[in-house]
Order: sequence, then C-alpha cells, then structure tokens
Amino acid sequence: MTYIEPAPIKDKENPLESMMSRFDKAAELLGISDEMYHILKMPRKQVVVGLPVTMDNGQIKVFEGYRVIHSTILGPSKGGIRFDMGVNIDEIRALAAWMTWKCAVVDIPYGGAKGGIACNPREMSAGEIERLMRAYTTAMLNVFGPDEDIPAPDMGTGPREMAWLMDEYSKAKGMTVQGVVTGKPLVLGGSLGRTEATGRGVTVSALSAMEKMRINPYRATAAIQGFGNVGMYAAALLHERGVSVQAISDISGGYYNSNGIDIEAAMAYRNANGGMLEGYTGAEKITNEELLSLPVDVLVPAAKEDVITHENAADIQAKMIVEGANGPTSASADAIINNKGIMVVPDILANAGGVTVSYFEWVQNRIGYKWNLERINRRSDRIMKDAFENVYATSQKYKVNMRLAAYIVAIDKVASTYKFRGGY
Ligand code: NAD
Repeated sequence: MTYIEPAPIKDKENPLESMMSRFDKAAELLGISDEMYHILKMPRKQVVVGLPVTMDNGQIKVFEGYRVIHSTILGPSKGGIRFDMGVNIDEIRALAAWMTWKCAVVDIPYGGAKGGIACNPREMSAGEIERLMRAYTTAMLNVFGPDEDIPAPDMGTGPREMAWLMDEYSKAKGMTVQGVVTGKPLVLGGSLGRTEATGRGVTVSALSAMEKMRINPYRATAAIQGFGNVGMYAAALLHERGVSVQAISDISGGYYNSNGIDIEAAMAYRNANGGMLEGYTGAEKITNEELLSLPVDVLVPAAKEDVITHENAADIQAKMIVEGANGPTSASADAIINNKGIMVVPDILANAGGVTVSYFEWVQNRIGYKWNLERINRRSDRIMKDAFENVYATSQKYKVNMRLAAYIVAIDKVASTYKFRGGY
C-alpha cells in the first residue's frame, strides 16, 4: 500500500502570514520604495547546521539546527532558540523578522534573529539536551557573540539551556562571556525582574490604553486567557493596580467570578498544583471560548496564537484587547474588531517587556554590574510607556489602528536607520 502524506490543514490560520500581511500594509501606508521593501524583507544571514549527538543508548543521532539573522540595521541581532519538532527554516525566518519589528517598536538597539532545532525535548534526557545545546553552540561560534547575535530562551528552552550555551561559548573564547546570551539563571548574570517582565509590560500597555479610553482602572474589569509566565503576572499586576480580574484560564479551562478573582489565592493554588488551575474552586468554571466573549473592559489573550479569528471576533465584547501572546489575533479578525471600535494593543508592543529586560540583562553583563529590581522596573516601565505613546501618536497621525501604527513605527525606524548607514 502506498503511503499518502496527510494533506496540510488549510483552515488553520497562520500567525506568521498574519504578521507579514500587516507588514505589507504598513509598508504601503508608509510609502516605502520597492527597493527598501526588499531590503527589509530579506534576512541577512541564514545558517543551517547538522548536529551529530551521541544519545544515551550510545547511538549517534543527527539533528538539524537553524539560526536566521533577519536584520542587524539597529544593532546586534536578538532572538530566542526554540526546541520543537515543528521547527523549520520558514518558521524561523518569519520569527526572526518579528523580532526585528518588536525591538524597533520599543526602541532598543537590536536587530532581529531566531534559532531552533527540530527535536522533541520532552523525549530527551537532560544529558542529551545538554550535548545538543553544546553542539549547536559550537556550530554557531561564528554567528553568536555579544556584539553580533545574542540568543535567548524560546519554546522548549529555558535558563538551564542558556547556561550551557554561555559555558560552551565561554570555553571556546577562553574567558567568561556572559553577554552572549540572555535569559540565564540569576547566578550566571541573569537579570532581576525578567520573569515578571512580559506580564508587567502587558500591564503598562493596558493601563496606558485605559488612560486613552478614559477608563478608571479601579472601576475596570479584565479577563485573561493563559495563566503562565505572561498571563499570571499580568493578572497579578492588573489586580494590584485596582482592576477587577473577573476571569482567568489555562489549558484546563476558564474560571469566572463576577466579584473578581482572588489572584493571590489563584497563584498559590496553581503553584501548589503542578502549574495548573484544574480544580480551582474560587470561581465558576467556564470554557476558554466563553472567556474571550465576556463583557469586560480589558481582554488579555496570553496563552497561544490564533485564538481570535474571523469566526469568534464578532462575539468579543471587551473594549480593548492587549495581546500578551504572540499572534493571538489572526489578520482575518482585524477588520471585524476594528469595526467594533475595540482598541488592540498589538503583540509587538504589548509583550515587548520581556525583550526589554533581556536587553537590560545584556547591558548589566557588559558593564559588570547588577541593577536592583526597583531600577529595572522603573526603566522598563518607562520604555513600555514611551513606546505606547509613540505608537498611539502614530495611529492618530496616520489615522490607523494601533497594530498598523506599531508596524509603521518599526518599519520607519529600521528604514530610516538604513538610509543613514547606507549600503554598497
Ligand atoms: P507559559 O507556557 O508559561 O504559559 C502558557 C499558559 O497558557 C499556561 O497557563 C497554559 O496552560 C495556557 N494554555 C496553553 N494552551 C492553552 C489553550 N489552548 N487555551 C487556554 N490556555 C492555554 O507561556 P508564556 O511564557 O506565558 O507565553 C504565553 C504566550 O506569550 C506565548 O504566545 C508566548 O510566545 C508569548 N510571549 C511570552 C513571553 C515571555 O517572556 N514568556 C514574551 C513574549 C511573548
């Protein structure tokens, strides 16, 4: 019998295509030349490596690893490394471009990059993952560097893998080079505040949007999808600022309480329950889909991509959507959400608090000094607030929504920097 390759799933919307369609629209609105359009679209460097690694059973398995540097126009490139079976060069290429726009929106001096290895870390031992990470680092010795390209964790990787990367790179250079990677454990030069940074930036974005819409946080309500690194801290900080968080959720479903959820209790429950809200009794059980259409002021999708599409966008009742996740809204939903007058603080702005504090980690490594949490929070809040105001002013100037305005800010910044630097 002949094997038939399963057909691609056509009805699944693609967050990366959504991103590129918005990039195209913003480039058109800015009126950038055809030449510049191609300069901005084409990655600067694309590296594919084969990584032979001895597995625990003594056999050698060869993995494929990638690193794509989309742009170095604003500075050394920055972007995470993902370990996932679905990793492929097209995905890495698009994610690298995404990083370029994100860094440009918050005005930090980085270009964009992304890396990855097609592997399943859940099926590998710690020793196998370590050997793979070290092999990948060695293969990328001429790509990575504190002045060239600075990786960070992404899906399937964390501080442990970044520590191995730093160690392997340092050994090859014959000295400790902390600034080659961010997202390291605190003792190896990681930064205070990094864990909460993305949720904190989401909160600054939400409060700034409330100010523009004249919504008093003490009378506002919110629903937050996802109770992981981003969603949990966004919930805690919004709650701290007076917002009544009426609904939270995770993969186990949604939890709703019209009087506001006791976020501290929910966090304590989750942390004692293997990171899951399953069984949490301080609220009524709802579905993740129902959470999205609650009549709240602020909706924060902070779980995964493509949760708001043309199929459910009409049901959304929130006054604003603050995108904690990457690509939670598909391009097909944009027009529907626009027509409903919902303000969207887009992912490349709202969740840039994480890369901002990663930048601080790199700065601290380079000056050989550790900042305290108060300084980090104050500086990252200022960067997020300034970026919000800049995007808002651009949206008023071009009479476009906040998402297009963010792309306009980013593309304009990279294009005008390129003009100053010049080409060949
Ligand atoms: P995480 O793994 O810590 O948490 C994800 C949360 O979403 C968990 O509570 C999980 O149970 C929940 N979840 C997963 N699938 C779900 C589903 N189908 N429905 C509802 N909930 C679901 O991840 P994170 O670091 O919080 O990242 C969340 C999103 O934010 C991702 O899109 C990520 O790319 C993006 N992001 C994260 C950071 C960061 O610094 N962590 C920075 C920028 C963007």
